[in-house]
Amino acid sequence: MKKMLIAALALATGAAFAYPDKQITIVVPFAAGGPTDKVARDLAEALRKPLGNATIVVENVGGAGGTLGANKVAKAAPDGYTLLLYHIGMATSATLYRNLPYKTLDDFEYLGLVNDVPMTLIGRPTLPANNFAELQKWLNDNKGKINLANAGLGAASHLCGLLFQQAVKIDMTTVPYKGTAPAMTDLIGGQVDIMCDQTTNTTAQIEGGKVKAYAVTTKQRLTTPALKNLPTLDEVGLKGFNVSIWHGLYAPKGTPKAVTDKLNAALREALKDPDFVKRQEALGAVIVTDERLTPAGHKQFVAAEIDKWGAAIKAAGQYAD
Ligand code: ASP
Repeated sequence: MKKMLIAALALATGAAFAYPDKQITIVVPFAAGGPTDKVARDLAEALRKPLGNATIVVENVGGAGGTLGANKVAKAAPDGYTLLLYHIGMATSATLYRNLPYKTLDDFEYLGLVNDVPMTLIGRPTLPANNFAELQKWLNDNKGKINLANAGLGAASHLCGLLFQQAVKIDMTTVPYKGTAPAMTDLIGGQVDIMCDQTTNTTAQIEGGKVKAYAVTTKQRLTTPALKNLPTLDEVGLKGFNVSIWHGLYAPKGTPKAVTDKLNAALREALKDPDFVKRQEALGAVIVTDERLTPAGHKQFVAAEIDKWGAAIKAAGQYAD
């Protein structure tokens, strides 16, 4: 409370223009080295200049599909020094968790969407299947023994894996991690069989032949050189399969408007940074340029995503407390 009063006082006296005058922390609600973490670290770098060469650090608070990290930010001082970079889990967790400790639409200031990211279906290198048709046969032959890695309930990998199991009509044992960085290590090591994960994490592993790649989850094929030969899941027979995820930036509710305006302006600048754009595009991500880059557009989009994915989650009957 004291912190809030100081922040409000500083703004009232015009000291808002000093923002930021200390280190900013971006909380990533997943393990270091994973796809959300990669986007956050690149974004932190791109935000530095527009925020007057501020020091921006990334803190990884993984667990419970990203909801632990999101909760930490929901409860942080609303002063612009603790931010959250979360993906589609921001929307799916609203339905998946019966007792979410924060209100998705009410407990955050929406600062703008960052990117859209496709996903890929990949397998351990020792999996005998070399294409989707062979994978489908292998899945049918191994019912009851298949391990599907994910980053916990509410994670993008969870949503994608859930829809994939529904589409192929095969139940798999899900193995949750604090992020898909540790899940990827186990997949490469052969401890788990398959995983759906963002291209921001899988492109280099596919390129390097470390994992088997079966399909992309988007409706259209991708143009990224390493991924352009992969079929879509729709194309190989899972009609209508279409999952693309996104990342957005958030601050705790009550962060002064002068600060959120500054953060939104900085985000817009960062998304034009040629190094950021190049790195993201090389990993299959698409930078957001539409109205979702405005706080109101971002919030409206998340509300629509809660409805859209909520229906699929309810149909699957998957909840957590
Ligand atoms: N890709 C993860 C997910 O499944 C999250 C992460 O580790 O960044 O949502």
